[in-house]
Amino acid sequence: MSQRNISLSIFFPAFNEEENIRATVTQAQAIAEKISNDYEIIVVNDGSKDRTGKIADELAASDHHIKVVHHNPNQGYGAAVWSGVQAATKDYVFFTDADLQFDLSELENLVEHVPQYDVVIGYRYKRQDPFMRLVNAKGWNILNRILFGLRVRDIDSAFKLFKRDIVKDVPVKTRGAMLSAELLVRLQRQGVVFKEIPVTHLPRLKGSPTGAKPSVIVRAFKEMINIYHEELGDIRHIMLSKFVMLGAVNTFVDWLWYLALTRSFGVFADHLVLAKGVAFLIGSIPIFLGNAYWVFPKGSPITTTDHIKLYSILAAAFFINTAALSGFLILGFNDVVALILATGTSFVWNMSVAWILLIKDRVRIMVYKTA
Ligand code: UDP
Ligand code: MG
Repeated sequence: MSQRNISLSIFFPAFNEEENIRATVTQAQAIAEKISNDYEIIVVNDGSKDRTGKIADELAASDHHIKVVHHNPNQGYGAAVWSGVQAATKDYVFFTDADLQFDLSELENLVEHVPQYDVVIGYRYKRQDPFMRLVNAKGWNILNRILFGLRVRDIDSAFKLFKRDIVKDVPVKTRGAMLSAELLVRLQRQGVVFKEIPVTHLPRLKGSPTGAKPSVIVRAFKEMINIYHEELGDIRHIMLSKFVMLGAVNTFVDWLWYLALTRSFGVFADHLVLAKGVAFLIGSIPIFLGNAYWVFPKGSPITTTDHIKLYSILAAAFFINTAALSGFLILGFNDVVALILATGTSFVWNMSVAWILLIKDRVRIMVYKTA
């Protein structure tokens, strides 16, 4: 694209940036004048308690390209970004932070890649943040890759250019720091290809950062967990992880019952396999109910056939478990070792059969239903 032809909205989420906002907007004006005949600059004042909103209003009064969106009260980074996307009216939307941690003139390097790419992301090749932030960011990136399959070098880099049509209707649910990741996950799943290019990152000289505040981090993790369970997680992984969690808790309770019975009652001390059987039966009630009503996700009511399958798996597990215990006892193992080995045996049985008979099948049914 001839660079002066780009129709461009530039916006900044801004929370308590009174010392930076004027310089940020001035830099934006300079680059926008250089690369676009048709641009707007939007300041999203995210409920600032300082003079950010007032300064932004003054700037808007002095230049018709500048607009201001006010939040009251503060809603968080993701909410501010999403308001900016919704307020934008031009063909392409670019946003960065209002704290002068990026060199806005590098926007030109992003614009070079449109219209070939609909999303161009600047990654910070040398991030100027404290060591712990870098470690946290690395962990966050890995987690997003594992949970959602997101393949982006620098998820939270605030230097991104989108085609507005591509981004404006993405049904993002989160409004905290998870928004960047959620948006990219959803776009990646739509088959959008990201162009990533290196950008300079500078230390924050004025104002205070909020990205590492415990409340911000806690909210981001809550959002990550919710969005994983509600929508974006691989349904098979969710079901399997619930199944394993339930099994682990149950095994523990089962062992406690076994130890309690064999160590307190002579009859069970003389009949270890009987004790194990009784412990297993006691534990089978919560595990059966848990599997039937918790492992299966919302919107997939469990059928009678599923109940029968679950019941059969559990009944078979009962026999395998007690048979394995007798076997290991006959082989001369101490009863606690035999107990652990027997549990291992029924664990392998449970996992493989539940996967084959229940979870895999259930996914097929769900996919079939929604297709
Ligand atoms: N910001 C916002 N709302 C908030 C927190 C931050 O709009 O609740 C803005 C902030 O003014 C800045 C950008 O989001 O422009 C990134 O915030 P910050 O620099 O504090 O994050 P960090 O760089 O530490 O990750
Ligand atoms: Mg910053």
